[in-house]
Amino acid sequence: MSKFYVVATPIGNMGDITLRAIETLKNVDLILCEDTRVTKKLLNKYEINKPTMSYPSDDIVGKNSKNSRQNNKLDKILELLEAGKDLALVSDAGTPGISDPGAMLVSQIKEKFSVRQDLTLDNLYDSVDVIPIPGPSAVITALSASGLPTHEFTFLGFLPHKKGRETLFKEIAESKRTMVFYESPHRIIKTLESLVKFCPKENQKKVCVARELTKIYEEFVSGTPPEVLEYFIKNKEKQRGEFTVIVA
Ligand code: SAM
Repeated sequence: MSKFYVVATPIGNMGDITLRAIETLKNVDLILCEDTRVTKKLLNKYEINKPTMSYPSDDIVGKNSKNSRQNNKLDKILELLEAGKDLALVSDAGTPGISDPGAMLVSQIKEKFSVRQDLTLDNLYDSVDVIPIPGPSAVITALSASGLPTHEFTFLGFLPHKKGRETLFKEIAESKRTMVFYESPHRIIKTLESLVKFCPKENQKKVCVARELTKIYEEFVSGTPPEVLEYFIKNKEKQRGEFTVIVA
C-alpha cells in the first residue's frame, strides 16, 4: 500500500524538525514541495538525497484546471501512488495545508484512494494511506508562549484584504474566544490600526504580536491595541519579518 506523508517542517529555526520527519523524508520515493529551492536547503542540511517535485497549487487541484502542465503534475502524483510509490508532501515552512497549499491535494488523494472499503485483490494497490507527520506551525507556536487564553481559540488564517475585512474586525472585537491570524509585514500597521478602531477600550482586548518565531529576532509584543500599534510605529525596523497576531 502506498503511503502519502504530510510532513511539517521548521518555521524558522532549522533545528525544529522531528526525528520522524527526517526519517520519513529519507525513506520516501519522492518529496513534493511548495518550492523545491526552499526545501532543498532543509534537505541539504539533513543530508537527505531524494528527488523533489513542485506540486500544483490548491486552486488548480480543486477546479479541474485547464492548465495542462499542472494537471499533468497531478496525474503524475496519482499515477505514482497507484504504482505503489511512497510520497511526502512539504510546504516552505510549517504544516502543509495550514494557510499553505496542499489541502486540496490531500483531499483529492483521499477521494481517489482512501474511501474504498471493499478492498479486493484486484484493487489492493489502489489504496493509499495518508499519514501526518506533525511538527511546527506558527499558529500553535505563537499561542503557546503568548500568555493569552488558549483553551478555546479561532484561527482565521490570513485576513481578507478588502471584502469582508471590516466584518471580520467587528467579529474579532466581539468574540469571547481568542482569535489568531497570520499577517504580512506590509499590512501589520494597517491591521493594528483596525484593531484600535474596532476594539474600544471598554471591551478590554489584549493583543500579542508574535514576530519572527524561532528565529534570531523572535519577539512577543503584548499590550492593548493602542500600545502595540505605538510600539510598531516607533520601531520601524520591527515592521519586517513574519507575524502571527493573537487577540483575546
Ligand atoms: N503552514 C504554515 C504554518 O503551519 O505555520 C503557515 C504558512 S503561511 C503561508 C505563512 C504565514 O505564517 C506568515 O506570513 C506568517 O503570518 C506566519 N508565520 C510563518 N512563520 C512564522 C514565524 N516564524 N513567526 C511568525 N509568524 C510566522
